[in-house]
Amino acid sequence: MDLASPVQFVKGIGPQKAAELQAAGIVTVEDLLLHLPMRYEDRTQFARIADLRVGMKVAVSGTIAVAGLRRARRMTLYEVRVDDGSGRLKALWFNQPFLKDSLARGVRVTLFGEVQPDSYGGRQLMMSSPQHEVLEDEGAAVHTGRVVPVYEKLGPLTGKGLRRILTQLAPVAGAAPETLPDDVRARLAVIGRGDALRRVHVPEEDDAVEALNAFRGPGHRRLILEELFLFQLGLALKQEVRRDRARRPAFTVTDATREAVKRILPFRLTEAQKRVLREIAADLQCPHPMNRLVQGDVGSGKTVVALLAMVVVLENGAQAAFMAPTEILAEQHFLTLRRLLARCPYRVEIFTSAIKGVERARAAERLASGETHIAVGTHALIQESVKFARLGLAVVDEQHRFGVLQRDELRRKGSEVDVLVMTATPIPRTLALTAYGDLDVSLLDERPPGRTPIVTRHRPASDRRAIVETVRRAVADGRQAYIVYPLVEESEKLEDVRAATSMAEEWTQALPALRVGLLHGRMKAPEKEAVMAAFHRRDLDVLVSTTVIEVGVDVPNASLMVIEHAERFGLSQLHQLRGRVGRGTAASECLLVTHGRLADDARERIETMVRTEDGFVIAEKDLELRGPGDFFGTRQSGLPALRVADLMRDRDLLEEARREAFAVVARGEEGIGPLRDLLGEAGWERRFGLARVG
Ligand code: ADP
Ligand code: MG
Repeated sequence: MDLASPVQFVKGIGPQKAAELQAAGIVTVEDLLLHLPMRYEDRTQFARIADLRVGMKVAVSGTIAVAGLRRARRMTLYEVRVDDGSGRLKALWFNQPFLKDSLARGVRVTLFGEVQPDSYGGRQLMMSSPQHEVLEDEGAAVHTGRVVPVYEKLGPLTGKGLRRILTQLAPVAGAAPETLPDDVRARLAVIGRGDALRRVHVPEEDDAVEALNAFRGPGHRRLILEELFLFQLGLALKQEVRRDRARRPAFTVTDATREAVKRILPFRLTEAQKRVLREIAADLQCPHPMNRLVQGDVGSGKTVVALLAMVVVLENGAQAAFMAPTEILAEQHFLTLRRLLARCPYRVEIFTSAIKGVERARAAERLASGETHIAVGTHALIQESVKFARLGLAVVDEQHRFGVLQRDELRRKGSEVDVLVMTATPIPRTLALTAYGDLDVSLLDERPPGRTPIVTRHRPASDRRAIVETVRRAVADGRQAYIVYPLVEESEKLEDVRAATSMAEEWTQALPALRVGLLHGRMKAPEKEAVMAAFHRRDLDVLVSTTVIEVGVDVPNASLMVIEHAERFGLSQLHQLRGRVGRGTAASECLLVTHGRLADDARERIETMVRTEDGFVIAEKDLELRGPGDFFGTRQSGLPALRVADLMRDRDLLEEARREAFAVVARGEEGIGPLRDLLGEAGWERRFGLARVG
């Protein structure tokens, strides 16, 4: 038996269970070995019940002396007393009446949990819903007397069954061949693969249980670093391949280009804008395609940077594409570009799902013939029928709202296209190194001059009168206000639309003197445009909207943002919404209106928003609250599927792995050669669940 053997032949599994395991993604012995314990318990040293104190997190072992099932109000309580010779400890489980069969009187058990005061019994101590395991005589050595691994149930296998099987597989694990070349292994300072696979399941005497529980035993370190190293190696190779790719002659930046840029600029660039533009210009003048991410908080002025990059490309006789995630944003970009380019000989056109039929066909023709220079649009741009004569630069705005595949499809509209992706969601470093690990990054870390901070306040919905008064005052001061309701545009249902509509009516009644407009995702494009245009022209004082205005919308005179049901929004969404104000010189304000009692995490989100305007702080908090999987909120966000590593827990190892992977690639083929096989027959992308990405 070796790592590649099917699990079916492992003692204790068989065909039936093997089939069920396959459904859980476990096919080979190696798959099984990579299912790591969720924690470890030191069963060489059980705590003595007589020594327990409140707050200790410990394992105790003893015999069940008393057991009983009780009904209390609408639940069942199963209560036992475990005796270890030094004393008795009470343990309690809620709504698990079936425990009476396995945890009966006379059974030997271990319990693991936190020691609490017994709320019913004076100075007595207890554990509430502790983890438990019955100790049988059979295989006692597997389950006690050492540091034992504790597994989560896996398909048909119980935690305890897994321990038995994986202990028995230790020799197979130990014989696993080494995969990393010696020099890489030495530099990463990790133990051999076989040792690691064995040791995570059968810890050695000197493996400290604290280290094991932190996933930092020597075995863990090896397996986690190996996985992260291979992932980063794939990224490094991709970047290398791109750098090697010869492109059409590099673009040039001449005095004429600089003149063209100067003519267009409506204001002086910030230092950050200048720096980022220099970085982009350097990329464009390089003979390999650009792949750059511009990170800049909301309002940092990304649009104009993109525009200037496009002008360089246009001056070189190529075309540019500018893709935005919503129609409203595409429309706004279209108007901005057309206005700024009014005195240039460039033709800008818009492609959205709103433009159909003959009109669309004509626009597509003009693009394909090269008559149109810039195509602005939504993902309508990546449709088959949209063809470019000579696409030189693809800009993707608010990149985090697109899947990675869409970014890629735009790139494929030309050959060796330069790609510029922009995001206002600051990406915590951990994720930047994974989801965007093969991109060069520019930072727009400065706001245009004259902006005032946004004051953010939390208001319970019961303060309605104060909220209405704030809106009234803002408008009386000559400003405009947004009032947002939490409906997700993709799924806006009729009842949601009705809710937004009736809210708009309520506001009209509350403030009869004001002009209130309504915007939601179910409106037809021309209607949406008309409303946005009216708001831009100040023909509307208040815009009641669903989250369709979340990204990009830019109306500098709007200085008040009221977010209803703020408790339902995620942090980055709140930050994006708030970023719609604070764009002019007037003092801006954001009211977070919440309804009902707040859950802990909602409270934490609101408090974070009130406390800070720093997008990076907010993004880190968001990541902490939601975890990396949900952070982007889009499928295909480019995050790898990892088996043993965890992006949050293993940030430190990620940095280490990345350094080594990029160093190996920098050393050239001599270093890379022995590693190619390691990326697997199925290929790196498949292995990390990233097929077709990048
Ligand atoms: P974002 O980075 O959020 O996409 P925008 O590109 O929409 O930001 O810019 C926000 C606002 O700031 C716009 O009204 C834009 O015209 C303005 N702006 C951008 N750069 C500057 C600058 N250097 N000086 C003054 N205003 C600027
Ligand atoms: Mg923008």
